[in-house]
Amino acid sequence: HPTIGVLALQGDVREHLAALRSLGADPVSVRRPGELAACDGLVVPGGESTTMAKLARIFELLEPLREAVAGGLPVFGTCAGMIMLADRIEDGAPGQETIGGLHITVRRNAFGRQVDSFEEDLDVDGLADPVRAVFIRAPWVESVGDDVEVLARVGSGPAVGRIVAVRQGPLMATSFHPEVGSDDRVHGMFVDLVRSVR
Ligand code: GLN
Repeated sequence: HPTIGVLALQGDVREHLAALRSLGADPVSVRRPGELAACDGLVVPGGESTTMAKLARIFELLEPLREAVAGGLPVFGTCAGMIMLADRIEDGAPGQETIGGLHITVRRNAFGRQVDSFEEDLDVDGLADPVRAVFIRAPWVESVGDDVEVLARVGSGPAVGRIVAVRQGPLMATSFHPEVGSDDRVHGMFVDLVRSVR
């Protein structure tokens, strides 16, 4: 089984550990550089990206995380985790840092007050049936680099067409929270990615 870490500084760590466990991966919480080094893949959870970035700096994980991404570690970021992987942020806090490596610009809290939080049946590339996607003060992807594959766009409503799932080599990110609920297929895509890289 691949060892898949969940960055456990802040956010909904437990739900990701459970989803990974149900898929037969060996999930571990990551708070130290040594724990990161033992991982075949890493999930960066949802939560609050400014707090997560500050804690990553304090725990001396930001540089090791950047090195891991540069070294090809598969990483899956959800919501705040997507922001953490992004090269650029619109509407970020002043001086907000990210791990980076994913060639996208995200807009933080993009959906605005009317649709602050919502759910949608979302078509995701590579999955036969739609995913019930839960968005909670989510970012969207404002723009992508040439090497970034768009996996999903919002299908209806005021944000129709906005990019909410992407992949770039071993990096994956979703605006929504695939760890809530009992549908493990998006995590399954990531576990397959980890297996294929290993
Ligand atoms: N709005 C949060 C942020 O900026 C992300 C919300 C989430 O992860 N559910 O980090």
